[in-house]
Amino acid sequence: MAYRAVLFDLFDTLVRFDRERLPAVELNGRVVRSTAGHLHPLLQALAPEVTLDAFHVALSQSWQEAERRRAIDHREVPAPERFAELFRCLGLDAAACPHAVMQSLLETHRRELSKAAEFPSHHGPLLADLARRYRLAVVSNFDYTPTALGILESAGVADLFTAVLVSDAVGWRKPAPAIYHEALRQLGVGPGEALFVGDRADIDVLGAHRVGMHAAWLNREGQALPPGVAPPRFEIRDLAELRGILAAEDRI
Ligand SMILES: [Mg+2]
Repeated sequence: MAYRAVLFDLFDTLVRFDRERLPAVELNGRVVRSTAGHLHPLLQALAPEVTLDAFHVALSQSWQEAERRRAIDHREVPAPERFAELFRCLGLDAAACPHAVMQSLLETHRRELSKAAEFPSHHGPLLADLARRYRLAVVSNFDYTPTALGILESAGVADLFTAVLVSDAVGWRKPAPAIYHEALRQLGVGPGEALFVGDRADIDVLGAHRVGMHAAWLNREGQALPPGVAPPRFEIRDLAELRGILAAEDRI
């Protein structure tokens, strides 16, 4: 059956996220990859007693707490809430933090994380081709919408998508059905008319199946399918394989 829409995961599907491209910061003689070195100075005027080491620990703790909450019911914990948790970990009150300081923390974190996202050069022409025949969408689990939009814009592909859904704005994360349903609603297609493409079988593929959508699992490393996930309709090593898959489906 011919598809009318193709939906993509963002991180490690449309763009590769490479932690090694995060800023290097030296902590206790050890080099770690983290935005902490760029964020910590922004807090200095407000809380001069907070050391870089303590800041890095709190940044990690706030991430772990957000991940713990996300795992409970797939509700997103938006970045501002995560940063409020960071303040709590440091014994500070985020409500007392000037708006401009909080904004500069969020913006700096966004900017530095974006540098670690690499857009493969062959993805641009592929998406432009597909956009001529299909409605395209991005459905991303991420806690700050501007990061996702900025990455698509700097790759020059933002305009190719009919819809960009980020869990930060939707409230729900994949594999929760709500974010898939909202994407299909914005695309104006039914689940049987759409293909979901993503690198995580336990998230992207599982969630697509739950709403009755076909999935193409981007399995770059040739890993085994995790338990509890039904085999996807397609398994690919590179997005370039989508051309052949979609052309074949069009002929059926
Ligand atoms: Mg992914």
